[in-house]
This record gives sequence, structure tokens and C-alpha cells, in this order.
Amino acid sequence: MKMTERFQVRPGQKVDLRQYDPDFTAGLKSKTDARRRLKENIDRLAELQYLLYAENKHAVLLALQATDAGGKDGTIRHVMSGINPQGCRITSFKVPSAEEADHDFLWRIHKAVPGKGEIGIFNRSHYEDVLVVRVHDLVPRAVWSRRYAQINAFEKLLADNGVAILKFYLHISKAEQKARFEDRIREPRKHWKVNPKDLEERKLWDDYMAAYEAALSRCSPAHAPWFIIPANKKWFRNLAISEILVETLEGLDMKFPPPMCDVSKLVVK
Ligand code: AMP
Ligand code: MG
Repeated sequence: MKMTERFQVRPGQKVDLRQYDPDFTAGLKSKTDARRRLKENIDRLAELQYLLYAENKHAVLLALQATDAGGKDGTIRHVMSGINPQGCRITSFKVPSAEEADHDFLWRIHKAVPGKGEIGIFNRSHYEDVLVVRVHDLVPRAVWSRRYAQINAFEKLLADNGVAILKFYLHISKAEQKARFEDRIREPRKHWKVNPKDLEERKLWDDYMAAYEAALSRCSPAHAPWFIIPANKKWFRNLAISEILVETLEGLDMKFPPPMCDVSKLVVK
């Protein structure tokens, strides 16, 4: 079964994350098993991006969401390693600035949406506004609960304008998050990543899972699907995401634009 089908949340599906195994590896035993396929996918992605840029018809938007230490940065580093930076824009969404907070929650997001020919990567996204915001009651329930419909309308607008939207939830277990935090504490080279706030957020794990389940269940139409990626094994996470990207880009059926003139008649003197 294709990874796109296996991990995609169907429109209207009610997601229960306990039913998804974060250790799943589709029968592959180790990194070595995945290495060749990952390399092929990364090479293929480079070709497809070239075509995307040349055709200048579609934009591709990838949104990455996960709990702390879930692997968003590692995914970008590995899966996007073959991408030409010229056609790619990465945006990390942090706590909104004063100016951003004075606008509607999609204002900063819309500005970061990739244009035709580009791949845009969101490291966190507008979904924070129904995740951290919901878990911490940063706005009243009446406000965040309207946002699912607002997000659906916004993503429909983008899709109608030629943006292919793919949203990845990197699914790690609570035990794996513990192991990754402990590794950061042990490893001096990773101390810069240690944030005591992350340990506080961890206490709210169940609330976060409930918020993720709501977002995954309510916002996965066919034109802007969520994928739940088993992410305890970093190599499988990278393989699955690269595979879904290749499948999706191939599905766009892109063509090089016709030359501006009869190239066979041109002579360079
Ligand atoms: P990091 O990705 O580790 O640099 O952290 C960014 C922080 O910004 C995380 O704690 C997010 O939860 C937080 N954040 C991102 N978007 C929002 C938002 N819309 N409202 C509140 N906090 C946010
Ligand atoms: Mg962080």
C-alpha cells in the first residue's frame, strides 16, 4: 500500500491517536533498509522541484506539526536536503509578535504561503492556534472553536488557487519524547536545545493529544490532507515523508512549459 494512502487521514475520519503505533516501520528493520529508498526519493524530489519551478503553475505547502522533540527540524534537514534553496521558503512560527497578535491568526500565515513554482515549508503553522492556544486557553473557547472552520475555509481558498497542501503530524510516543529530552540533557552539543518550558508542556501531554485529535479529525479534506507519520524511528519518518512528497508531486502531472520560440531555428553567434 502506498504511504500516501496508509497515513492519510480521510475526510471526516475521527482520529484516535492511540490507534496509531509511533514505532511502525512497515516491516523495515533498520535504517540500512530505508537508506537506498530515501536517497532515491531525495534525488527524485530535486528533479520534481526543478519541474515545479519551471512550470510555475502549482505551489506546494508542507506544514509540519509535532510535540517538542518530535523531529520537525530533523525532517527538514534530511528530507529537504536535495532541494534547491532558490525555490524553497521555510517559515518557523513562534509565539506571535505584538504586530501579529493585533491581526487575525491567519494574517501571518497567509503572507508566508508559497507562490507558484515554490515549495513552502511551515515549521509549526496556523494549527498552533488550535493546539497550544487551546491547551493553554490563550483565547476563550468560543474563539478557538471557530477556528477549525476558518482554517478549512482558508485552506480551500489556497487549494483553489493552485496550492497543493500537505500536513504532517509527526507522531512520537511519550516515552520517546522522554528519551529525546534525556539525550539533550546528557549531550553537551545538544544543551542549546534544552528548554525547561518543554518539560512543563510535557505535563500537558494528554491535553495536547486531545487537541491534535480534534485538529486531525476536523481539518483533513482531500485537498489539504493530514498525514499521521510514525516518528519514533527517525529514518522511517524521513522515508515516509519523502515518499508522500514524491507521490504527491508526481500526481500534479507537471510539464515543462513550451519554449518561447522555435528553438531549432536559433543560432548562437
Ligand atoms: P520552537 O518551535 O521550539 O522555537 O518554539 C516556538 C514556540 O512558539 C512553541 O512553544 C509554540 O507553541 C509557540 N507558538 C507558535 N505559534 C503560536 C501561537 N499561534 N500562539 C502561541 N504560541 C505559539
Ligand atoms: Mg522548542
